Amino acid sequence: KGSADAILSCSGVNRWFGGVRALTDVSLDIRQGEIFGLVGPNGSGKTTLVNSITGFYPPQQGTIRFEGRPINGVRPHRIASLGIARTFQNVALFKGMSVLDNILMGRHAFMRPSALASLFYWWWAEKDEIRQRDKVEEIIDLLQLESARDEPVEVIPLGLQKRVELARALAAEPRMLILDEPMAGMNQEEKEYIVRFILDAKEALNLTVLIIEHHMDVITAICDRALVLNNGRMIAEGPVREAVNHPAVIAAYIGG
Ligand code: ADP
Repeated sequence: KGSADAILSCSGVNRWFGGVRALTDVSLDIRQGEIFGLVGPNGSGKTTLVNSITGFYPPQQGTIRFEGRPINGVRPHRIASLGIARTFQNVALFKGMSVLDNILMGRHAFMRPSALASLFYWWWAEKDEIRQRDKVEEIIDLLQLESARDEPVEVIPLGLQKRVELARALAAEPRMLILDEPMAGMNQEEKEYIVRFILDAKEALNLTVLIIEHHMDVITAICDRALVLNNGRMIAEGPVREAVNHPAVIAAYIGG
C-alpha cells in the first residue's frame, strides 16, 4: 500500500470505542485529483474513518499519510493547516454573522500565528488581506453566493447554507476536501446544485475530494473510485461501478 500518486493513504487502520470495534484493518489510497466515495450502511464506520483522518479520533493502530507525511496523532487544527478541509453532516455555521463573514472564518486555518509571522505581521497582513479578498471573491463567484453575501446566514434556505459551508471549507485553500453527507436534508433540486458545485470547485481549485454518502446514485454519478464499508470492514474497493455492484455490497444493503 501507499502508491506513489496517492495524496492520502490509510494502511491497516483500526479504531475501538471501548469494546466496540468501529474500524477493522481499513486501507485505502486516494489519488491526487480524484473524487473518492466512502459508502456503507448506517453505523458502518464512515464517520469514524473521516474522524481518524482529520485527527478527531486518531486510530489505535495503523498509519495515515497525507502527501507522504504521517498524520496519525496530529491534532485536528494542524491537519487542517496541512491542507485538509472538511464539512460536517449537520450545518455548523456562525449564526448572527453574514454569509461573507462565515466564509472569511474559513481563513483561520490559514492564518496560523508564529513568531516569524508576528514579526512581519503588518507587512504580511496587508499582503494577505489583498490575497484573501481575491480568494474569497473567487469562491463567492464559483459557488454563486454573490446575491446572499450580506445576508445573516440563519435566514437563508438550508440548501444555500450548505453552499456557504462548502465555501468556508474552500476558503482555507485545501488540497483535499472531505464532505460528510453533503446532500443530507436536501431536496432534489438542491442536491443537483450541490453536485454541480462540488464538480466545479474540484476543477477550478484542483482539489481531491473524499465524500461520504449513502445514496448510491450520487456516488456513481460523481465518484471515480469508492470504498464500501460494512460493520467497520472493507467489503469492496475500486472503480466506482465495480465497487458498488460488488455482490458483498448488494448483500449488505439488502440484508440490512
Ligand atoms: P457511519 O458514519 O457509517 O454511520 P460511525 O462511524 O458513526 O458509522 O459508527 C461506527 C461505529 O462506531 C458504530 O457502532 C458507532 O456506534 C461507533 N461509534 C462511533 N463514534 C463513537 C463514539 N464517539 N463513541 C462510541 N462509539 C462510537
